[in-house]
Amino acid sequence: MESIRELFRVGKGPSSSHTMGPALAAKIFKEKNPDAISYRVTLYGSLAATGKGHLTEEALREILPEEKTTIIKKEKFLRPHPNAMLFEAEKKKGKKIKWLVFSTGGGSIKDLKNIYKMRKVYPHKSFKEIFEYCLKNGITLYEYVFRFEDKNIKRYLLNIWNTMEDAIKRGLKAEGVLPGPLKLERRASSMYIRSCNSRGIMERIGRVFSYALAVAEENANGGIVVTAPTCGSSGVLPSVLKYLKESYKLREEKIINALAISGLFGNLIKHNASISGAEVGCQGEIGTACSMAAAAATYLLGGSAKQMEYAAEMGLEHHLGLTCDPVAGMVQVPCIERNAMAAERALDCAVYALQTDGTHKITFDEVVRIMKQTGQDMKVQYRETARAGLATVFKMKR
Ligand code: SF4
Repeated sequence: MESIRELFRVGKGPSSSHTMGPALAAKIFKEKNPDAISYRVTLYGSLAATGKGHLTEEALREILPEEKTTIIKKEKFLRPHPNAMLFEAEKKKGKKIKWLVFSTGGGSIKDLKNIYKMRKVYPHKSFKEIFEYCLKNGITLYEYVFRFEDKNIKRYLLNIWNTMEDAIKRGLKAEGVLPGPLKLERRASSMYIRSCNSRGIMERIGRVFSYALAVAEENANGGIVVTAPTCGSSGVLPSVLKYLKESYKLREEKIINALAISGLFGNLIKHNASISGAEVGCQGEIGTACSMAAAAATYLLGGSAKQMEYAAEMGLEHHLGLTCDPVAGMVQVPCIERNAMAAERALDCAVYALQTDGTHKITFDEVVRIMKQTGQDMKVQYRETARAGLATVFKMKR
């Protein structure tokens, strides 16, 4: 598995696989072909179907010279991943360079020729292997992460946490309507105020919701967020961390450890299944975010590695089969609310796991495998094409 830096990326919303991945690919292609007379980018599959609402063209045009670039769309699905892009550069004397590259989720890209390679830093591929290694060496899960990452990883994670907190602060201050045809009103600010004026369950759950909404609304507005594991699901983990940090007055060091643990679980899902809504539906995005946040919360609440695994397993298990059907192709409905629901569910999973000794029937590794299989069995309309589910209801109402 590669570094958790590849999972936690800082960038502009609203969709990591539609903006950050294509922007990274465009940057690499331009650097390799600076002398091109013209560029052509063909977007395939989900990038063609929902690229407009997800701002793919804008992301590409920020990198490639406007006057030299043509972007075309083909709603054909290529293998091995539905988010395909063909970059072409025309050079002097009619010479053409082509590069087929895939945006695989969370801002990551992959090509069949391995022009862009990610360095592998972890020798283990499953939670079982990692857990056994930790037991044998007498280390915790976050110590495992720090052992294999480079020496700057804690500083990197601190910056990730600061970026998450900034997104919460900006989102809680902002009001008004989000961009796009839905005219969706931001709710984080009013929900936060209401939670401050409430007690008990209204205060607690309202606070968690407002933090998740704050980040998800910032993302929908094209603001700076952290992929955790994607932009569309970027509100879940920050909300849970912020809520627990405030409630238990936790030191920043604990939050860094929690980020390392959540990154480890997210990485296992990314490596063994997928975090791309276009590939496996929303279970891969929101389900993964919930799983990561559940593991982090269990750690922050004093749980063992077995309990963390149980909570992470539940976070994913109870999102199995969740489809990706963004209304009008925007990362707004159901995405924003879904972040709030998953944040609360992550805390529920942690509390549930902490009420047990951590033993359970379905392992984390097994549920990851099943999530991938479920995604492969899902009809393509339910994988980020905005052609089924809730996306259809909105079209009928217009
Ligand atoms: S429905 Fe889920 S997977 Fe699809 S765009 Fe929204 S958050 Fe991402």
